[in-house]
Amino acid sequence: MNEKSVKKIKIGAGLATGGVAALLISAILSRIATNLFLKGVTLNVYTAIVVCSNAIGLIGLVLALVGAILSAVGCAKLGKKEKPAPVVCPYCGVPNSPGSKFCETCGKPLVKRCVNCGTEIAPGEKFCKNCGVRVRDESDLKD
Ligand SMILES: [Zn+2]
Ligand SMILES: [Zn+2]
Repeated sequence: MNEKSVKKIKIGAGLATGGVAALLISAILSRIATNLFLKGVTLNVYTAIVVCSNAIGLIGLVLALVGAILSAVGCAKLGKKEKPAPVVCPYCGVPNSPGSKFCETCGKPLVKRCVNCGTEIAPGEKFCKNCGVRVRDESDLKD
């Protein structure tokens, strides 16, 4: 390894350290800004703090904005409902993506219905909860 490459590594390490410091400071500032913003403080305060992070440098500003966006996205996600649960195949038990009509693994219909009244049969149910008719199992369906 020659002297030049050592110098480059040293400069790179210095820049990386500076970048991490800018990231930490701007992350704190963007966090404060987001908190103030969420608490209903005027947009001017929010802008002022973002401008303060500009003093750290362009990287700091960009990271502050990214941090603010990520915080906002995180807050928005908290308000949203969780993903719908996967549909578990009543025949082989493999979970399928929500909304699937047929099992990805065994190809059987994912919604089992009572042969008598058409009520949906949940996985593991042996009798129809509506009319009491015995649920046909896999061996019945083969013939
Ligand atoms: Zn299946
Ligand atoms: Zn039934």
